[in-house]
Amino acid sequence: MSYLKIQFSAENISVDQIDVTGGIVANKNLSIFGNDTEKESDKILRDLAMEIKSNFKNYIGATVVGNINSNYSNSIVDISGVKCDAKLLFSDVLNIPVISDYNTYSIKSYDEIKKSFEEQEKYNVWNIEYYGYTGGKRERSKESLLTVGNGYLGIRGALTETKASNNNYPGTYVAGMYNKLTTNVAGRDVVNEDFVNLPNAQFLTIKVDGAEIYEPNKDKVIELKRVLNLKTSELVTKLIGEDNEGNQFEITTKKIVNMFNSHEYAISYSVKPLNFSKNIEIISEIDGQIINYGVERYRSLSSNHLTHILEETNENISSLLVETNQSKIKIAQTSIINSIEGNQLNLTNSSEKGKVNTKILFEGKENKIIEIEKIVSVYTSLETEGDVLEKSKLNINKNRKYGDVLLDSENEWKKLWNKVDIKVSGDMLSQKLIRIHTFHLLVSGSENNNLLDASITARGLHGEAYRGHIFWDEIFILPFYFVHFPKTARQILMYRYKRLDAARIYAKENGYKGAMFPWQSGSDGSEETQTVHLNPISGEWGDDYSCFQRHVSLAVAYNVFQYVNVTNDVDFMKKYGLEMILEVARFWSSKAKKDDKTGRYTIDKVMGPDELHDSYPGTHEGGLRNNAYTNMMVVWLFEQIPGILSSLGELSTEIRNKIKFTDEELERLDDIKHKLSLEINDEGIIAQYEGYFKLKELDWDYYKEKYGNIYRMDRLLKAEGESADYYKVAKQADTLMTFYNLNKETIDDILNDLNYKLPENYLEKNLEYYLARTSHGSTLSRVVHAQLAQIVNNKNLSWELFLDAVGSDYNDIQGGTTAEGIHTGVMAATLVVALSTYAGIDLRAKTLEVNPKMPDAWKDISFNVMFRGIDFKFYISHSEIKVKSNKDTKILIKGKDIKLEENKEIIINY
Ligand code: BGC
Repeated sequence: MSYLKIQFSAENISVDQIDVTGGIVANKNLSIFGNDTEKESDKILRDLAMEIKSNFKNYIGATVVGNINSNYSNSIVDISGVKCDAKLLFSDVLNIPVISDYNTYSIKSYDEIKKSFEEQEKYNVWNIEYYGYTGGKRERSKESLLTVGNGYLGIRGALTETKASNNNYPGTYVAGMYNKLTTNVAGRDVVNEDFVNLPNAQFLTIKVDGAEIYEPNKDKVIELKRVLNLKTSELVTKLIGEDNEGNQFEITTKKIVNMFNSHEYAISYSVKPLNFSKNIEIISEIDGQIINYGVERYRSLSSNHLTHILEETNENISSLLVETNQSKIKIAQTSIINSIEGNQLNLTNSSEKGKVNTKILFEGKENKIIEIEKIVSVYTSLETEGDVLEKSKLNINKNRKYGDVLLDSENEWKKLWNKVDIKVSGDMLSQKLIRIHTFHLLVSGSENNNLLDASITARGLHGEAYRGHIFWDEIFILPFYFVHFPKTARQILMYRYKRLDAARIYAKENGYKGAMFPWQSGSDGSEETQTVHLNPISGEWGDDYSCFQRHVSLAVAYNVFQYVNVTNDVDFMKKYGLEMILEVARFWSSKAKKDDKTGRYTIDKVMGPDELHDSYPGTHEGGLRNNAYTNMMVVWLFEQIPGILSSLGELSTEIRNKIKFTDEELERLDDIKHKLSLEINDEGIIAQYEGYFKLKELDWDYYKEKYGNIYRMDRLLKAEGESADYYKVAKQADTLMTFYNLNKETIDDILNDLNYKLPENYLEKNLEYYLARTSHGSTLSRVVHAQLAQIVNNKNLSWELFLDAVGSDYNDIQGGTTAEGIHTGVMAATLVVALSTYAGIDLRAKTLEVNPKMPDAWKDISFNVMFRGIDFKFYISHSEIKVKSNKDTKILIKGKDIKLEENKEIIINY
């Protein structure tokens, strides 16, 4: 047992490995800059950490001393003028607890240091901490990860002192808030439905007498430390700043969005003058003079979504009422500002169209803290009947304190964590990232907002990318809700049901029957995907075929089926589910055309999940033939229908009568499910689509060498004057996606039904084949492959892919996309993979099955799931499974029937 003692000087670091006796067992000095003085500070620290990793083994933690003084940590280092906290990065890269207070710990015993490491680890797995201020995309990506919310409301983790720019984006979002605008682009009217950024009520800054208003990008940020506590959901920011007159101050901001009362959020704001005694004004705003500005590539499009209706101020209470200019949704925000001691504040209010402003005057004294609290109430006509302004005012309680909001919310979060927390031991980093993912899912969609007519957007309530639209990503997201929050899952499926008519119209407009759900869905369920795109280089319009991803309808049907299987909510199936499933089946039936020559059916004009192939090379028509994922999922769907109909008995006849679903239609489904076409080569590789094998092989080594990061292979090919259309290159799992949704036995049945014979090891072969041809251009790619690799017992590969996937947003692996919002699909899917692949919980059959395949890095995993109304508590290690249920029931563990008695834990060794 030992630990590392790391000490920075200006140019070097020294690393000592100290054992239990306090003796140095190994030592190394490393140069901070190596041969490259141009490297970014993060990169330098990361490389140093990697060097430490390769030079030292078997240490339980590290202490770090930086090379400059700081008020917040002893591990701050100055690398070429950029200040970073080495402790944070070393901790992530080395995956060990790192403490900075070396001076204290060095005189203590080994046991005490060990205890400090344990404390630090407990902190690390519940907190996101950042040090320093960079501006730019990196800052906006931190803001996304520091977003707080409650499933109804999300406010980005921007410094309250900032406004929208390339450095910051203090966005505010309410689930389901869309507005459509038309932009004339190069002579053509383009309509976009956007996810509306709401007036910014988190704005707070200061102005010292004689100086200008403090603005972090113009003035100095001397130090900045931010901590988001995932357990309580409180975000605390400590900033030491200096204005244009050299006045220095420390501002502490605390922010909480109430999980209990969805319409409320609170900010506590305190200022400590560090080198002056002068008057200080705290400036507060509700700023509705904002536009949608969160995504650079959308900025040339119309982005002014709000009409200003009313501004009101009355002492310490201010309100702003605006309305979206097309969807006519009213949004009211009212804020109250109080002093912490309950003293009368010296306030001056002013307002202009779309903005209210309050200045609070204080007599500032050096080192004396001044503090206010701002509580904001948000109501919109989306979820609220009647006068929203009145409602937002009524929700303001004059005596309410920041601490009350925190307490209410914390209690609610406690309940949520008790249900959803996945505990893994042996791997601090996975634990932390799993918690971050769980947290942001709850911010994006929570049980407390079951009545909203909304689904979970691809980028959460965290940003404007993909315009808050709803994609097939639900297939990755919903399982988390099935097992923890069935009511929320039901509400999300109802979002689809309420748009079933729109899906019927969409199918009809395209010459099909049944229901065709849109690839991108927003307010009313119409297709929101653009159909043309302007090429900025050539100035020419080109077709965008991504809406040909008709498989989204299969995802809707699949989600309904899995939801009912996991929750046993037969009522949902009767009232809504069956109707959706039959209409989707009817759509696919109308899309399938029989070829009299081959006797097989073909489904044309579709795209699989791999967005790099949307048409045949050289053609001007969108869509491909016989996409394997689509066709196999169609067969799966058609195979389920007889079982669902017979389980519902008479009721199914009622529903069939309602939508006039005839026996002939059923017979046709049966015929199609035996005769849909797939292309399979002699090796047993299932072609992604008909004609796929004719595509050229790509020289992967050339691209890897030339570009390093090749995840957007489509763009690289374009840069080389080529097109992905011609190559065997995939953005994400396509054929293989079938194996993510269905287990191998089910796929064996599908292939059997279709009368295709494949070699025994076809899954391994297909995995190997497609993995070698996938660039992982979507964050959804690695997580799917992580599951498949584990299925074929390639543990190392699975783990490597999982680690990348679980760090997608935290490490912003796509180099900036996190700035525009988190990725809810991969966040949920990593949790699903932890439970389904590693803990081995299979919820797809009528009986819950357990078949663990734990990663070496994890000692054990504990979690809860609810299956068919029964709560299960699991603990799974590499050799032992402990399980307890709250009712008598039966499960399958490693293929064996196991009886469980109510609240009695059983232990199985495996
Ligand atoms: C992926 C899609 C996904 C969408 C929204 C795209 O990059 O390719 O599969 O639905 O992002 O998350």
